Amino acid sequence: MMFCTKCKSILLPDKDNPKKIRCNNCGYVSRGNKGSIILKEKTKESKKIEIIDKSIETLPKTEAECSKCGNKHAFYWLNQTRSSDEAETQFFMCTKCKHRWRSYD
Ligand SMILES: [Zn+2]
Ligand SMILES: [Zn+2]
Repeated sequence: MMFCTKCKSILLPDKDNPKKIRCNNCGYVSRGNKGSIILKEKTKESKKIEIIDKSIETLPKTEAECSKCGNKHAFYWLNQTRSSDEAETQFFMCTKCKHRWRSYD
């Protein structure tokens, strides 16, 4: 895991260019060392979700029904895979009970 040199927040891979890393807190952008970020990213999926969790308040909301509490709104985000033949996965998190699930198209 890498931290922002300016504000010590966790740096996340840029959505458009995973080789770049970005601080969601102060906007600091850094180019990772060749592939080092991607290697670290190859951890278990649960860890990825954890990292995303840190910036959950900035995520967009959508209408999606939570299977746990029946709440009709959820945060959502996309997890892009590097291989182009795999579809990106959409994740949801209930705004009420924080239940998470993913959708497959
Ligand atoms: Zn920062
Ligand atoms: Zn819920």
